[in-house]
Amino acid sequence: MVTMIPFLLPLLAVAIVESVCAFTPQICIVGSGISGSSAAYFLRNYSAEQLDIYVFEQNSQVGGRVAVVDMGDGSKLEAGGSIIHPKNLHAAYFTEILGLKKLQLADDDDDDFGMWNGSAFIFKTQKIVSSSFISRAWISTLNKLAFLRRYRLGLFYMNNYVAATLAKFLRFYDNSKPIFETVEAMLKWANLYESTQTTCERELQNYGLSDQLINELITVIMRVNYGQSKSISGMAGAVSLCGSGGNFWAVEGGNWRMAAGLIQLANASLLLNSKVDSVMKVDGGYEIGTESGDKRFCNAIILATSLDESQIDFRPPIQIPRRKMQHTHATFVRGIINPDYFGMPSVSDVPSFIGTLEIPTIPFSSINVLKSYANDDKIYKVFSRMAMSDDLLDRVFSIRKITKHFDWSAYPHYEAPEVFAPFVLDKRHLYYINAFENAASTIETGAVAAENVARLLLSKLGGDLLSLQQNVNSRKEMDQYDL
Ligand SMILES: Cc1cc2nc3c(=O)[nH]c(=O)nc-3n(C[C@H](O)[C@H](O)[C@H](O)COP(=O)(O)OP(=O)(O)OC[C@H]3O[C@@H](n4cnc5c(N)ncnc54)[C@H](O)[C@@H]3O)c2cc1C
Repeated sequence: MVTMIPFLLPLLAVAIVESVCAFTPQICIVGSGISGSSAAYFLRNYSAEQLDIYVFEQNSQVGGRVAVVDMGDGSKLEAGGSIIHPKNLHAAYFTEILGLKKLQLADDDDDDFGMWNGSAFIFKTQKIVSSSFISRAWISTLNKLAFLRRYRLGLFYMNNYVAATLAKFLRFYDNSKPIFETVEAMLKWANLYESTQTTCERELQNYGLSDQLINELITVIMRVNYGQSKSISGMAGAVSLCGSGGNFWAVEGGNWRMAAGLIQLANASLLLNSKVDSVMKVDGGYEIGTESGDKRFCNAIILATSLDESQIDFRPPIQIPRRKMQHTHATFVRGIINPDYFGMPSVSDVPSFIGTLEIPTIPFSSINVLKSYANDDKIYKVFSRMAMSDDLLDRVFSIRKITKHFDWSAYPHYEAPEVFAPFVLDKRHLYYINAFENAASTIETGAVAAENVARLLLSKLGGDLLSLQQNVNSRKEMDQYDL
């Protein structure tokens, strides 16, 4: 027996080397929304080594706050994150590599827009009824002039503000960017941190916008995009204003297809109907537990959901700043709006896009037509801070054939100065993408934060086993997209 040992030693050494080389880190991602799915993609894309990636999703489908509503009449419409900005380069790139199609959205919100103060439209643009190109262009120009007459140079200052914020945000696509340990460092690097420390109103006043513009048009935009007021923090406000431009697009078939495609492309194991209810620190990593009693060991965990309303039991407990989520009720109605409610003589006098001022008695933030079947048969989307009761809906609409309700825990309630949770929650390998949401919450910011967290994880977990690889979406490749 003893004499055999010298012969066995080389074999043993080979076995040890193989087992070390065969070490495959187990990375668990909680959440299959755009943050979790893009984290899976970026992990796979940046890692030079093998990784096992598991995505835990509590629902029976992927996408989270990017979801469609099925009206039950054949129409499926975006119910959450719906519009994508032309300069959202990650979303554009994902759509391209996944072979999905971009659906260009109409830029007609300014034509047929009304600003409602609870008893009257204080500003209303003209509806385009003619199909002639010349007449459409003419009315559209008149409408732009109407905005200009009301807000004058303020509109120009507003565009400058949006362009300046966007230019700073575009730095996050630079391949030579550092890896950031904190949201603060990430925002400071792009010169965006300051605008999270003050209100949008203050920032816009500094840019020369009048109180009238801020209290009217800016307020309307904040209420539509974030269900909040002009007191929202500056960067979130600027991002919300980006949502009032043009050239927006969405993924044909639903933006959720981006999340589904990324998880597949990353070759990650998707665990649907798996609600994570515990995360326990154990030797060399964590044990993740689900409501159904399953347990899994993970070397690292990425939390890709907002933790504010989640009930995950962390052992040991984690400490993050308190954050309130803003609930947005999205109500979809197939039917026809009631002109009497708006003091209008007929349905055709009611604007297709109704924005509202910050007046507590107004029970909704916005109403807009999503689809028109006939003059007396349309699909409307209503955003409100509180649920729309049947009684209220029956006053706002004269016909209601189909009604669908969504109560979204939609985005943080923004309050400057914003305080951020760290990207690394325990100084080890518990990562939190949605710490970034205090700056702004969009499909693209989720992907931008996910890219940083994926790189951070690989660089910290890495050592000899993992190395950062140049991302394939080099800036050059990005340049082909419509900037
Ligand atoms: C009404 C509305 C309109 C919007 N409009 C736009 C828009 O037009 N354009 C835009 O860019 N953005 C928009 N947004 C914002 C955008 O949708 C979000 O910022 C983005 O989708 C957030 O993605 P996420 O992956 O970070 O989080 P989520 O999409 O919330 O994903 C988190 C996922 O984690 C899952 N999860 C949570 N807890 C657990 C658990 N314990 N175990 C397992 N799974 C769990 C959830 O089910 C969910 O699928 C809108 C949001 C709302 C609500």
